[in-house]
Amino acid sequence: MIEARHTVKAFGQGDHIVRALDDVSITINKGEFFTLLGPSGCGKTTLLRLIAGFEMPTAGHILLDGVDITDLPPNRRPVNTVFQSYALFPHLTVAQNIGFGLEMQGRPRAEVAKTTAEMLALVKLEPMANRKTSQLSGGQQQRVALARALAPKPKVLLLDEPLSALDLKLRKEMQVELKRLQQETGITFVFVTHDQEEALTMSDRIGVMSAGKLQQVGSPKDIYTRPVNRFVASFIGETNFLPATPVAGGLQLGCGAVVEGLTTAKPSVTLTIRPEQIRITPADDAGAIPATVTSLVYFGTDTHCHMALSDGAEVVVRVQSPASGEAGVRTGDSVGLRFQPAAAQVLED
Ligand code: ATP
Repeated sequence: MIEARHTVKAFGQGDHIVRALDDVSITINKGEFFTLLGPSGCGKTTLLRLIAGFEMPTAGHILLDGVDITDLPPNRRPVNTVFQSYALFPHLTVAQNIGFGLEMQGRPRAEVAKTTAEMLALVKLEPMANRKTSQLSGGQQQRVALARALAPKPKVLLLDEPLSALDLKLRKEMQVELKRLQQETGITFVFVTHDQEEALTMSDRIGVMSAGKLQQVGSPKDIYTRPVNRFVASFIGETNFLPATPVAGGLQLGCGAVVEGLTTAKPSVTLTIRPEQIRITPADDAGAIPATVTSLVYFGTDTHCHMALSDGAEVVVRVQSPASGEAGVRTGDSVGLRFQPAAAQVLED
């Protein structure tokens, strides 16, 4: 539905050119919750602003439903934006804020009233309709901003870090709320965040960005289990990186152990394996990778066991915390480590 084709956005002049977007091509499907995820400064907001029409690309095109809209001004695009700062009118009531866009479009008064009532119900703010927005909590203001952006029934809603001003508990509630709103309205959401957990829990698909480039696009599960490079693997969730070289039948780690069944055409690669994919076995387990427990970090339901392999490489293993009275591993223990080769990913970059 939305397509960016070879988009480049450069800011500045002469020696001070920043390529905020460096040849980004992406397709976002109708009705999906799509998240642009990446660290600060990677170009997420710039891409959002190009879709909204607030910025013109230096090169490339933006298409909507197959039509080139690169030159269309923002107000003529069926796209609305929710900003981090909400940008509500403090002197207007909740209902007036929600109806504002519709009034500006010159819609009939009865239609404005009907849609405003629908939107108030959608975001569960009916009892607040006549309050000034300055008298609302952060979470309530966020709901007004969402209702105002949804009222003109845009085809696409762009959300630029809309939850970042909220405290953790409210943020979690609003994550569920946003997902519900997207499912109920069927509107295509393009959501920007630097929070990987938020991206994993809310999105149908995620586009991971770094330094103006799109690194990977896929479902949360794809991105988590099959990261295509080191950046994606380390930005999303915790992981282990182990240098490895190809030998007959598999890949050999620095400690000498061979992970069978994995291959590469490169002379050296990095193996990445998530902490929860590794099992701890007894020290006399012949086929396992020998390791020593160096420290344990308790996280409530989970415990992170930091291990050292014989070549000094560090590995983190996540295990369920033992029930009280039950013995777990202890610092200094010698153990074996095992994982399914299919759970590991070979990174060739
Ligand atoms: P954040 O999460 O911090 O908002 P972001 O991923 O959204 O970051 P952008 O705001 O898209 O990143 O910025 C990408 C790069 O482009 C940054 O290096 C930024 O400094 C630069 N940039 C953005 N807007 C402008 C501008 N108007 N003029 C000059 N440089 C800009």
